[in-house]
Amino acid sequence: MSECLFCRIVAGEIPADEVMRTDEVVAFRDIAPQAPVHVLVIPAKHYPDAMSMSTADPQLAGHLIKAATDVATAEGLEGGYRIVLNTGDDGGQTVHHVHAHVLGGRAMKWPPG
Ligand code: AMP
Repeated sequence: MSECLFCRIVAGEIPADEVMRTDEVVAFRDIAPQAPVHVLVIPAKHYPDAMSMSTADPQLAGHLIKAATDVATAEGLEGGYRIVLNTGDDGGQTVHHVHAHVLGGRAMKWPPG
């Protein structure tokens, strides 16, 4: 059994509120939402972060971004949204399976914290 939390969600071993699943990616609602819409989009295949994924499989990186924008459309975020890939300790990454946050439903601030 994988020790990676998000691999376990992909495998269906841990429940998640899924909004999309394809062969390449899974999208589910964040357990601690930071906006009215807060969905995580992850590749089914494990890569620890954005750099390792985009180096090994740039096509998958494209799938991830396409899926994130598809989620935003499906969630009705016509007014705009933010896609975030926290990467590494300084980037604030806490789960080491690459994931894109799709945040929307409120006006975002800049700069981020
Ligand atoms: P990051 O800090 O960028 O690594 O983001 C990890 C995200 O995963 C956080 O926003 C957490 O709230 C979220 N998270 C952690 N565990 C779960 C879970 N079991 N289901 C859904 N989201 C989770």
